[in-house]
Amino acid sequence: MDAWVVARPGPISTHPLERARLPIPVPGTGELLVRVEACAVCRTDLHLAEGDLAPRRPRTVPGHEVVGRVAALGPGTAGPPAGARVGVAWLRSTCGHCRYCLGGAENLCPASTYTGWDADGGYAEHVTVPADFAYLLPDEGSAETFAPLLCAGIIGYRALLRADLPPGGRLGIYGFGASAHLTAQIAVAQGAAVHVMTRSEQARELAMALGARSAGGAWDTPPEPLDAAILFAPVGELVPVALAALDRGGTLAVAGIHLTDIPVLNYERHLFQERTLRSVTANTRADGRAFLDLAALHRPRVATTPYPFDAADQALADLAADRVEGAAVLLF
Ligand SMILES: [Zn+2]
Ligand SMILES: [Zn+2]
Repeated sequence: MDAWVVARPGPISTHPLERARLPIPVPGTGELLVRVEACAVCRTDLHLAEGDLAPRRPRTVPGHEVVGRVAALGPGTAGPPAGARVGVAWLRSTCGHCRYCLGGAENLCPASTYTGWDADGGYAEHVTVPADFAYLLPDEGSAETFAPLLCAGIIGYRALLRADLPPGGRLGIYGFGASAHLTAQIAVAQGAAVHVMTRSEQARELAMALGARSAGGAWDTPPEPLDAAILFAPVGELVPVALAALDRGGTLAVAGIHLTDIPVLNYERHLFQERTLRSVTANTRADGRAFLDLAALHRPRVATTPYPFDAADQALADLAADRVEGAAVLLF
């Protein structure tokens, strides 16, 4: 099958992705073989390609926002049946018996594995996934708009939960890419006043069209103090900026898996009066199912920029240069 692999992690200008011909993978016990319809491009793919996240195995196929059809079932796999439409997301497996797995925090399982990092992902014609970690998707609807829900949507939703936004509260969103634009719409649908801070003029226009109360520059102060904020931009320098924009008791959740260094914080200006700074680490399957249910209910507009499969390297380069509106999606 045709695939892309991370051949030499490094700056995107050095072409870390390489085309490869790989055998169609054989699904193991409890696994599904999925024929890929579409795979969205996540910033994490860029971090993996550029080496911000150390490779866990050589020449891994990236991609963890996969929509496809079940092509075959491995031994002992109960379902879903061949032909069913499924989503393959970032969290690929957990141990199932540690205190995190048993305590509702499987996203923190020390033995967890990840699609496109520990195992080959969706920048390929086929991918395997443990059936217990696949999401059943509706038959109708375009794969292009479902794909970004599987990481951008799910992780953004987990970040929203971690930001502890009170009902009807004021939410600040820093950075407005694929994940942020979906999260903003869920928050607006739930009654929040959303303020977006981003350097991209185009993204500010999109934010206002999607129901944001205001949209300013990346470093701007929002027009009112915030009850909660989510930092989507992987820019540590924005942490004190976002903390300073919080009202008393507010929470800042950092959504990314990678962040540049956070500058020195000033206790009184940034943390005192019970402001809270939190990270977001992957998601549980319960988060995934809850978000997909909310997406089916509120039907957020999914802004996508489609790319042919052959142009995966271009899609990553465009993401690196902030040239993508909404989510880049590879189509087969
Ligand atoms: Zn575990
Ligand atoms: Zn992702």
